[in-house]
Amino acid sequence: MELYNLKHPSQKVSFTQAVKLGLGKDRGLFFPVSIPRLDNIDALLAMDFVERSKAILGAWLADELGQEQVDSLVERAFNFELPLTKADDRRFCLELFHGPTLAFKDFGARFMAQCLNSLAQEDKLTILTATSGDTGAAVADAFYGLDKVQVVVLYPKGKISLLQEKMFTTLGDNIHTVAVESDFDACQDMVKAAFEDSDVRDGLHLNSANSINISRLLAQVCYYFEAVAQFKRANQGDPVIAVPSGNFGNLTAGLFAKAMGLPVKRFVAATNSNDTVPRYLADGQWSPKATVATLSNAMDVAEPSNWPRVETIMEAMNWPLSELVGVGLSEQDTVEALDELYRGGYLSEPHAAIAAKALSLTMSADEQGIFLGTAHPAKFKEVVEQALAIELELPSELQAVKDKPILSAELPADFARLKAHLFETLA
Ligand SMILES: *Cc1c(COP(=O)(O)O)cnc(C)c1O
Repeated sequence: MELYNLKHPSQKVSFTQAVKLGLGKDRGLFFPVSIPRLDNIDALLAMDFVERSKAILGAWLADELGQEQVDSLVERAFNFELPLTKADDRRFCLELFHGPTLAFKDFGARFMAQCLNSLAQEDKLTILTATSGDTGAAVADAFYGLDKVQVVVLYPKGKISLLQEKMFTTLGDNIHTVAVESDFDACQDMVKAAFEDSDVRDGLHLNSANSINISRLLAQVCYYFEAVAQFKRANQGDPVIAVPSGNFGNLTAGLFAKAMGLPVKRFVAATNSNDTVPRYLADGQWSPKATVATLSNAMDVAEPSNWPRVETIMEAMNWPLSELVGVGLSEQDTVEALDELYRGGYLSEPHAAIAAKALSLTMSADEQGIFLGTAHPAKFKEVVEQALAIELELPSELQAVKDKPILSAELPADFARLKAHLFETLA
């Protein structure tokens, strides 16, 4: 597989290099030189998830890694269920939250960890990543205990739920966490600054596990095929798919799936009031505002870093940008959406509920849609309980961490302080 840097197209790298580097020169995103087209879609959709995922990822990676290697990465990474559950007559939820940290980020993080682990390394790698909520847990869990990798996770202090925080800050061992006294965008900026600082980058063999890492996006392509496969077993036609979006890695993966030949009627990019993209799709003006904290905090991103990839796919496929539907919803919409789903018999959480609502607002009467269930309702226990006036039981994954102490360091949003901290704790 060959990729190029969107900012410096002459920089070309292999998949292995792209996984290790994360970002290219000048923070440019890597993008595939070509997107493989699958022509046996019906046969693929008939396969089970793991077998089909081997074929999908093989189409990208077998020439570089060999199909056997791809098979074993897939087997080790994808070992949990992803049911498509009927929410009402026209809407289905692809539940991506049955992995070890109860969020869809387990797919990408586990595949990436397997990739990095299988690339021979003489020196210890440092994974440095920022999280707006769930990435931290997924990455920490995927790498916990690996002896050739240390992990540092930055997150905005007080802006993620306590249970989310407990899931990745209580592990210890090779997992280091930093609560930053600012918002997620500031955390992302500090990560980017670290990658530009040669002392840190080279001294600590930095690697990013953010949704910018291409291995995560390729892993996520697989569940879009599963969504359509399950949908078509029970329904006619092609589904509309609504993606609850923050950094837009998830939507990028969906567009890759469609570019490979997956029949999807259209995509809906659903956001909370951090609605840079829906506003851009409506009026053509890219004008991010300051990030605001919402109930769907994993989507509190004003400047989504994967957006250039979205535009590049649309261009490469000759799809007009107007084929993408953007919907930005308020806090009140979010609560109403949760309530409406619950009254219809489906318990959800704020992120998925936004996507579900975006479907009902944009589908015509003869269409059916899938919204992605990106997190387990219990991960957003307080919000869900308050919105629905119910009590939720904690699943065992959360029960196990709820009384453990948080081991995070606390730092201001100041790169110099982070740099000093990294050398103190890791070197
Ligand atoms: C990360 C996350 C999102 C946003 O996904 P992106 O790929 O960043 O757009 C949505 N919902 C949940 C629960 C998340 O953790």
